[in-house]
Amino acid sequence: MATFKCHGIIIKRSNLGEADRILTILTFDLGKIKAVARGVRKTLSKLAGYLELFCVDDLLLAEGRSLDTVAGAVTTKCFKNLRGNLKATQTAFYFAEIIDKLTEDREPHKEIFELLENSLEHLDGKKNDLLISYFEFNFLAETGFHPELNKCISCSKKLEEAGNFFSFESGGLMCKNCRHDIGHSISSEAIKVLRLFLQHRISVIDKLKTENNLSKEIRQITRGYLKHTSGKELKSEGYLYE
Ligand SMILES: [Zn+2]
Repeated sequence: MATFKCHGIIIKRSNLGEADRILTILTFDLGKIKAVARGVRKTLSKLAGYLELFCVDDLLLAEGRSLDTVAGAVTTKCFKNLRGNLKATQTAFYFAEIIDKLTEDREPHKEIFELLENSLEHLDGKKNDLLISYFEFNFLAETGFHPELNKCISCSKKLEEAGNFFSFESGGLMCKNCRHDIGHSISSEAIKVLRLFLQHRISVIDKLKTENNLSKEIRQITRGYLKHTSGKELKSEGYLYE
């Protein structure tokens, strides 16, 4: 049987039969894949300890007719603090569900792999109110919904300092003349933060000092835009606010 190696993060696990599991893995090279891990629900399974949720693994997979099988695994990163923190775990489930529901199998997305790995690393460390917005906005940008933040998406004119709108339908900022009852009012501070999200690595969120109201405004935009473009219900989202 042909085998291949891959580097991936386990984003979902479901039971199969008596002792097996189906894993959904976001890999660096291949995008999202599914594989069977045989016997991992038995107490003596050697593999089981290496196939925990949200761990980063080096995997050896054996090609199967319908599903590949995990032949070997070594965990390279396991976010221990994240796993011990309910809020952080719920956020990780939310990120995983976004990737699971909104990306296609075997469609490579190296940037999304890095976005998830960096976000999990961040969740393992300190709390930051901007992390979810950062993830949502960059996920959208990488999956074909890169928003226009530099000029009006409708008339292409330079934006005024204040009085602008974000249109989920058009995917970007709109001036007040083009708004025509669509679009959500957005402050100049929120626009600045959203631009920084797209220009910088995740560590930028630790350098930004945002008041609670501004974080909330930003989240309304990123969440609304994700909801509008995906059109899908994300079950894990409800747990974020508990
Ligand atoms: Zn305009």
